[in-house]
Amino acid sequence: MLQLTNIHKTYNAAQPLHVLKGINLHIEEGEFVAIMGASGSGKSTLLNVLGILDDYDEGEYTLGGTLIKNLNESKAADYRNRMIGFIFQSFNLIPFKNAMENVALPLFYQGVSRKKRNALALEYLDKVGLKDWADHYPNELSGGQKQRVAIARALITHPKIILADEPTGALDSKTTVEVLDMLSELHKQGMTIIVVTHELDVGRKADRIINIIDGQVVTDKTEYQENGKSK
Ligand code: ADP
Ligand code: MG
Repeated sequence: MLQLTNIHKTYNAAQPLHVLKGINLHIEEGEFVAIMGASGSGKSTLLNVLGILDDYDEGEYTLGGTLIKNLNESKAADYRNRMIGFIFQSFNLIPFKNAMENVALPLFYQGVSRKKRNALALEYLDKVGLKDWADHYPNELSGGQKQRVAIARALITHPKIILADEPTGALDSKTTVEVLDMLSELHKQGMTIIVVTHELDVGRKADRIINIIDGQVVTDKTEYQENGKSK
């Protein structure tokens, strides 16, 4: 599904900062992977590269057989739209759009008519248990509800991969479990899921944990290898 080979990235601020230092990673279709590491280790930078939200300087990234390198913005947007659903710690909902409109937004960028995208958005809100909240605005929703709206928005384009950056970082423990159960369910349905987290409880839900220290992969373990038994 995706392959990173010797990926390097430096942020060119006043002091250039070499953040990704030769990342090699192969993720198969249908895997549920957690990327773990301390704050500042480069997890979000890596996820942004995977999500074609940011460029890299060296190495190669192939996604679904396509080399993702020096794409112009419209090509990048096209791959993102077709392949990837995003979930963020801060939900990234648009405050002046209601739940239905937020979920429908990716379809707007695909040129789907308003009627059709709103009907689909209601379907996806129903899937995450929020059908009755369609006309509520983000500030009228709890953190868990906001993240469920964001999950519905991520799913509405039928992405091949879900990329989640600290998806439970702003949630209490009960809501964290709800959101993780939702990701597990998507994994069971065959979706590829990559979650960035610094919380071990969250990482343990995945089948494979990749640890990053200072921009390098230091361990890469499936639960099977780690515990000598399958889930
Ligand atoms: P993590 O998600 O693991 O906490 P990040 O990938 O966000 O780490 O950041 C890695 C390092 O890169 C940090 O030192 C951070 O301050 C720096 N960094 C992140 N984004 C930028 C940016 N856009 N410009 C300059 N430095 C950045
Ligand atoms: Mg981060």
